[in-house]
Amino acid sequence: MQLLDGTSCSQQIRQEIAKEVDEIKSNGDRPPHLAAILVGNDGASQNYVAMKARDCDEVGFASTVISMKAAISEKELLDKIADLNADNDIDGFIVQLPLPAHIDEHKVILAIDPKKDVDGFCPENVGNMSLGLPTYLSATPNGIMELFRRYKIETEGKHCVVLGRSNIVGTPMAILLSRNTAPGNATVTIAHSRTEGLKELCRSADILIVAIGKTEFVTADMVKEGAVVIDVGQTRVQDSSKKSGFRNVGDVDFESVKNKCSYITYVTGGVGPMTRASLLQNTLKAYQRR
Ligand code: NAP
Repeated sequence: MQLLDGTSCSQQIRQEIAKEVDEIKSNGDRPPHLAAILVGNDGASQNYVAMKARDCDEVGFASTVISMKAAISEKELLDKIADLNADNDIDGFIVQLPLPAHIDEHKVILAIDPKKDVDGFCPENVGNMSLGLPTYLSATPNGIMELFRRYKIETEGKHCVVLGRSNIVGTPMAILLSRNTAPGNATVTIAHSRTEGLKELCRSADILIVAIGKTEFVTADMVKEGAVVIDVGQTRVQDSSKKSGFRNVGDVDFESVKNKCSYITYVTGGVGPMTRASLLQNTLKAYQRR
């Protein structure tokens, strides 16, 4: 079994981006600028946004974090998005999800100018991705494709089962893997909470990508010998032995599954850093497109 090391892969990507930023700056131009809107004080979201800002620092991007109270109205958030859409200094921005329940996530995503939608969530960008046109690819699926690319994992002709069909992970993952590209050209099945015979289906996968948010859901008996297993899941569970008081748990029972796989990601240092690296790639693209 080989562990897919998202930490070192993302480090390589950041170094590549930092080189480009150095060139931009040496030409006397301003660096790319990413903004993030954070609504409320969910600990995990605060942590993700802080890490994204730190990544920006590392590669030489400018970054701005806009923190808004959980109680803000939907209109206040939409007004802030309109400001960022119009702000010439900002190349791209994200609205950290999930949002408080009184705010309609779809409305928010639709309000983002597709040219600045570096998360790749807007219908225009999802549509372009589906058609294979230039666009911002959804950060998490693109990060996983980058792992396949850099580890030279063959996807062509393989049966890939994507567990989970969310708009931000499962669905775009399935689209990217099924396209006529390299990596790509896989035969893809999307599974979800209504799928029957899930265990057998998962066992038929050469590549199993799990994004359901259910801790240690995938066990060894659901995995084919020699399969590639990608664990997207990240759920915070209380753990008094940790200084932070919690630990992240993935959707895959790593200890039982690892010995059956050819490649596997771990909940930390796996998909998460690759997602953040994709966001940087999209921000650089947004800067270059302007
Ligand atoms: P989501 O929007 O809640 O979607 C979950 C999907 O899993 C749904 O399609 C759901 O099916 C399916 N599902 C739930 N229970 C299932 C079951 N028992 N069997 C089969 N399918 C089941 O979640 P998400 O936003 O895609 O995120 C999934 C996980 O990935 C979460 O833990 C999240 O924190 C993590 N995540 C990590 C990163 C990263 O960078 N590492 C990025 C994004 C998300 P239905 O559609 O039928 O309800």
